[in-house]
Amino acid sequence: MLSFGPARMSAIGDLDPFALPIDLLFPGRSIETLRPHEAELAPHHVDFDTGRILLGVQSHLLQIGTLTILIDTCIGEHKPRPLRADWNARVASGYLDRLAAVGLSPDDIDIVMCTHLHADHIGWNTRLVDGRWVPTFGKARYLIGRSEFDHWRTEEEKAPGSHNHGSFSDSVMPLIEAGYVDLVEDGYELCQGVNLIALPGHTGGQLGLCLCHQQQQAFFCADALHSPVQVFHPDWATRFCTDPQAAIATRRGLLARAVETSALLIPAHLRHFSAMRILLDVDGIYRPEFVP
Ligand SMILES: [Zn+2]
Repeated sequence: MLSFGPARMSAIGDLDPFALPIDLLFPGRSIETLRPHEAELAPHHVDFDTGRILLGVQSHLLQIGTLTILIDTCIGEHKPRPLRADWNARVASGYLDRLAAVGLSPDDIDIVMCTHLHADHIGWNTRLVDGRWVPTFGKARYLIGRSEFDHWRTEEEKAPGSHNHGSFSDSVMPLIEAGYVDLVEDGYELCQGVNLIALPGHTGGQLGLCLCHQQQQAFFCADALHSPVQVFHPDWATRFCTDPQAAIATRRGLLARAVETSALLIPAHLRHFSAMRILLDVDGIYRPEFVP
């Protein structure tokens, strides 16, 4: 649990670690390149013995006053994801138990913010009840970026089920059909001091949240930064970024802003720590400073 002005923030895990061979996440990159940063990256973010990048698939909970916001909903259960064994047809993940452990039931969530529509960010949007996908968070409004939604809907129409592990049909459309979704844009205000910001590149319509309190800022920056590895190497785009050059520009902008304003960064997949601040060395290298 991290406090920031009037806000309380915490992570609700769904799969940890989600371990990916470095070459799968960052094509052409080698683990040896990261050795100079081993002290910061091991053991939580890089497994140097097996050559894997370690991510957490988790939601972030943001509570301000009486408002409870859930940012991203991970992988979910029962979802057919045959291309990825550790996401496929999961049961007994413990995710809702971990939500209960912080005193919340699904009906306590007021807003679900979907930063982007990849399968590891929307899975718990719905759950299977009597053979149908129904909204998991039955009293929430679900916020989805308009351009993100339009893009994937168009792609779905062209080739149904062939994107994002088929998650659009089981984790987005049931919400649309049930009338739970508000399509939103860059700048949208969730409540005073919490606004959406555009983070294009990983997906074209990716949105983050900027939390502002007395000149201090915290950014829920989604997959603009997958791993602290990219603090040292901002130009490493992932295999899963739709526009790598835009992703790099967004990441560099975010890192520069974090240095200038001493902002907190809260990437979607950051493991073990609540957040990071970013330092800039005299030699021009960014470094993460982890916040417990
Ligand atoms: Zn992701």
